[in-house]
Amino acid sequence: MARVYNFSAGPSCLPEEVLKECAAEMLDCNGTGQSVMEMSHRSSAFEPIIQDAEAMVRKLMNVPDNYKVLFVQGGGSTQFAMVAENLGIKNKKAAYIETGVWAKKAAAEAKKLGVAVDVIASSKDKNYSYIPKVEKISGNYDYAYICFNNTIMGTHYEYIPDTGDIPLVADISSCVLSEPLDVSKFGLLFAGAQKNLAPAGVTLVIIREDLIPEPEACLPGTPTMLAYKTHADNGSMYNTPPCYTIYVLDKVLHWIEKNGGAEGMLKRNKEKADYLYNFLDSSDFYHATTEKGSRSLMNVPFLTKYSDHAADDEAAAAKEKAVNDKFVKEATAAGLVNLKGHRLVGGMRASIYNAMTLDGVKALVEFMKKFAANN
Ligand SMILES: *Cc1c(COP(=O)(O)O)cnc(C)c1O
Repeated sequence: MARVYNFSAGPSCLPEEVLKECAAEMLDCNGTGQSVMEMSHRSSAFEPIIQDAEAMVRKLMNVPDNYKVLFVQGGGSTQFAMVAENLGIKNKKAAYIETGVWAKKAAAEAKKLGVAVDVIASSKDKNYSYIPKVEKISGNYDYAYICFNNTIMGTHYEYIPDTGDIPLVADISSCVLSEPLDVSKFGLLFAGAQKNLAPAGVTLVIIREDLIPEPEACLPGTPTMLAYKTHADNGSMYNTPPCYTIYVLDKVLHWIEKNGGAEGMLKRNKEKADYLYNFLDSSDFYHATTEKGSRSLMNVPFLTKYSDHAADDEAAAAKEKAVNDKFVKEATAAGLVNLKGHRLVGGMRASIYNAMTLDGVKALVEFMKKFAANN
């Protein structure tokens, strides 16, 4: 079976070079006679791997010295709670910008833990198809929270809100290292690895040191594992880390470095996204669902002309669904997989993370042209 072009939103495609290296080292990593899967995390064979992964994050993201780089588990979803438990502790009040599912879930989790949530802006009025412009955030908030790239809706911030002294928290799960980012503008950044960095299993957290509370100062009842201090004090090895995922992550980071670092990724990603959006914007058959000025370079949802019908027109809705299903089925047969759209947006979605090639995007556009001509 030839390899396919995988447009999955996550877990998603990884650089082929990295997969080949992993395969070559599966039975014997660095002359140890073991797979990384089998190594003790406290061994002299594994420790350099996690140390290098941290050093590579610092280097590629230009992380200032007063920030900790942590590898934790539980995915982006656990961060929704961890952020509130560790940062929502003084005034127990936080500002959230609502840009779709992931931001809403984060706000709901904070509320559940007793943090008062102010939704200071929302793009709900247009089904989250744009990013609200919030120049300045002020008030007695413990933190302000944004989802920097909205994986489901396909939107992305083209600015960083000015929060003054309020720590800015950003979920960068689906755009980490897809572009340069000024870490010093944020109090905390987190990213589940399975979108742009590695297989599922590890979450990267970058947090300014002065924001890490003593475990006792976290919200009452915060488990040991959910206090950032636990991980910060133990080099992310308080308990067994997801060793193999961190090993792959380290390899992906070296691949990013070889390909020009964050700047190189931005160039590569802009080229791919421009190619796809230019096609969508010039097509009579397809259209992007997001507004210009808020578009993600990573996740591109799109609809067909059959989506333009009255909400209560059942026959037209059935036709729309049939066309979408046919698109996904025929694309799959052509080696272009995981293009089904999220149910909240409908249509199709192409996720074109760092590892997706321009050739993959060109193959998709060629297929889309043929499909439009035949339907
Ligand atoms: C996928 C995703 C999440 C959830 O990540 P899990 O690791 O599945 O918990 C959170 N935020 C964003 C932006 C995502 O894309």
